[in-house]
Amino acid sequence: MIGKCLCGAVEFEVAGEMPNLYQCHCSLCRKTTGAAANAATFIEQTHFEWLSGESSIRSYVKDSGFRSDFCGCCGSPVPNLLRDTGLYFLPVGLLEETKGFQVVQHLYTDSKAHWDVIGGSAEQHDEMPSLKALNEALQHSSSVS
Ligand SMILES: [Zn+2]
Ligand SMILES: [Zn+2]
Repeated sequence: MIGKCLCGAVEFEVAGEMPNLYQCHCSLCRKTTGAAANAATFIEQTHFEWLSGESSIRSYVKDSGFRSDFCGCCGSPVPNLLRDTGLYFLPVGLLEETKGFQVVQHLYTDSKAHWDVIGGSAEQHDEMPSLKALNEALQHSSSVS
């Protein structure tokens, strides 16, 4: 599956079955996306490949360690490798396909915007579960090791 930023400079490919998605409603994700929440998932490093534009990627890291990588040309958020995890954070709005994906986790619902109405039956967390627990919820049961 192919993903691209808005201008197309940054392009990547994800191999294998796509995991489920999460949305984070925290104030930082609102800023980085300009929207109510991000929509993202985690991809095994071995299933992820940059096709072009890696040199166009800029990175912003807050004092807290919160990091946002984005295309230096168009500003789209782009994937980044989560430290020591072997997982890429993947903003799924970049993917060329949308069929078959499902949001299964909502994070930081306690700090969501007042105008943000969360629908559907996905599990909601006041804050953030552990990365391990979150990733297990996202990966299809067949691929959880
Ligand atoms: Zn771009
Ligand atoms: Zn967030």
